Formats: sequence, structure tokens, C-alpha cells
Amino acid sequence: MAATIIDGNQVAADIRSELKEKVTKLKAEKGLTPGLGVILVGENPASISYVTGKAKACEEIGIHEETIRMPDTTSETELLQIVEKLNNDPKFHGILVQLPLPKQIDEKKVLLAIRPEKDVDCFHPYNVGKMLIGEPDYLPCTPAGVQQLLVRSGNDPSGKHVVICGRSNIVGKPLMAMLMQKAKGANATVTVVHTGTKDMTYYLRQADIVIAAVGAPQVIKADMVKDGVVVIDVGVNRVPDATKKSGFRLVGDVDFDAIKEKASAITPVPGGVGPMTITMLMMNTVTAAEKKG
Ligand code: NAP
Repeated sequence: MAATIIDGNQVAADIRSELKEKVTKLKAEKGLTPGLGVILVGENPASISYVTGKAKACEEIGIHEETIRMPDTTSETELLQIVEKLNNDPKFHGILVQLPLPKQIDEKKVLLAIRPEKDVDCFHPYNVGKMLIGEPDYLPCTPAGVQQLLVRSGNDPSGKHVVICGRSNIVGKPLMAMLMQKAKGANATVTVVHTGTKDMTYYLRQADIVIAAVGAPQVIKADMVKDGVVVIDVGVNRVPDATKKSGFRLVGDVDFDAIKEKASAITPVPGGVGPMTITMLMMNTVTAAEKKG
């Protein structure tokens, strides 16, 4: 069976156009423009590119965005002062501190300083806890993107066995908490595998849905999954490729070419989960503004 390719760019474009409509309505009916304050510390090229992508998405949807750029030498106190300024500025409904931060700054301390109602990345323990008990104000962006891809591609996880590979705080753990909820777009039986799992293949072969978030190129092979499986590949890995000008290409955590012949649906890398993450950040920012409206 050749799999349906789940087009993350298309799903993201659909959601962005829904958000644009919501923003137009918020402006017209309540005179309210959703605002996102982004803080970028240092010159990390990947961070600069992520922040640029977020600013572009805001512009497309009609969200007011300001990026505050701070030097590599910024102290923790200086950064906390800026976070507090944005906390108190009603123009900004959401605050995002681009990670990673320079080593002199305690990342956890900074994320804790963001007021939970402005925590549109959903990294604050308050929001993580609310999600866990099934009363979320926001959902973390990459896991929420995965859930939207499943639901909008006609692969609702309800009643399915989902195997998540990876247990990070930003992908695996929150996904587990989201998909096991007795809620729409969830209600799945969830297994999480990681480096402590003795026989990962044993679990993967039982999965109706595999979500790969391990950060290792193409470690999940076709003989590790069952026929008709749905695969969401979160992984983004650089592998050398002499045919490319950059000298590398991006691949996911699964062996896409082989698994697409066996799966019923699969996301590509790039063009799968990637475009969804920023889109869900936009969704959280609009939600934050709606709560104020
Ligand atoms: P991470 O913090 O490095 O966590 C990786 C997890 O996978 C860990 O729990 C680790 O287990 C587990 N793992 C690693 N190798 C494994 C293996 N061979 N077998 C089984 N488990 C294994 O990574 P992350 O932040 O979750 O990101 C995962 C991938 O998703 C990365 O490629 C990242 O670039 C990508 N990502 C993409 C987006 C997007 O928007 N597209 C967003 C976020 C992340 P232990 O806990 O035992 O170490």
C-alpha cells in the first residue's frame, strides 16, 4: 500500500487562513489586535531564522509582533527585566523567549518568569499542569501541531494505540499527556518508548499511529512498523549530501522512502510537522487575545 502523504504546509495554510479571519473579526468587533513579543538573545543563526519565520507568520495573520534583540552578553537580570516589561504591557498577549539562551542565563528561571496567561509556548509548569489535568488554556506548539495533523488528515487518534518515540519535555511528554485525555482529538491508548526501552520494535509493531521524536536520522525502519500504520515524523536531522549546495539535506527520524510503501499515511520531512509548530504559536497568541477581549 502506498501511503497518503500528509501535507503539513497545506494544513498549516488552512489553519492560518482560519486565524486570519478570527483576527479580522477581533479587530472589527472588539478593536483588539493580538500581540506577540519575541525576545532573541544572541546571534544563533537557527534562532534568528526561527524568529524571522515567526515574525512573517504574524504579519500574514495580522498579529502585531515585536522582536527584542539582546546581545550574547545579556545577564539573567537584564533578561528578566525585559520579560517583566512585556508581562506588564497590554499590547502583548503572548511572550516568547527564543531558546536556547546563552549559558550565563538559567533557562528555567526565565520561562517561569513569563506570566502563565502570556505563555503561548506553553512551557510554564502551570500550563503544563493544566494540560495534564485536562483543563488546558494553551497546548504546546509542536504536540498541538501533531494532533492537528492527525485530526485534519482523517486519522483521529481516538481508540487507537499511539506509540510515541521520545520523552522530551517539549515533544514526547506533552504529546503523551494530550493524546491520552478523554477529549476530542485524543482518547488514545498511549505508549512512550525511549532509550530505556528494551525492545522498541515490540511496541512499534503494535502501533496504529507512530509519532517519532527522537532526533536521530531514519532510526525507525519499515520492518519495525505494521502494515497500514499512520506515521508522524517530528524529527529534523541534517545528513551530508554532496548534491546540495549547502552540503546537507534534512531527513526525519523514520525511513520515509521504505515506510511510505507500508503505511496508510505519513508526514514528510521537511513539509510535515515543521510548518505546524509556528502555526500553533499563532493559534495560542490569538487565543490569548480572545481571552482578554
Ligand atoms: P530530545 O530532547 O533530544 O529528546 C529525544 C528523545 O528521544 C529522548 O527522550 C531520548 O531518550 C529519545 N531517543 C533518542 N534516541 C533514541 C533511540 N535511538 N531510540 C529510542 N529513543 C531515543 O529531542 P526533542 O527536542 O524532543 O526533538 C526530537 C526531534 O524533533 C529532533 O530532531 C528535533 O529537531 C525535532 N523537533 C522538531 C520540531 C518541529 O517543529 N518540526 C519541534 C521540536 C523538535 P532519553 O530520554 O532516554 O534520552
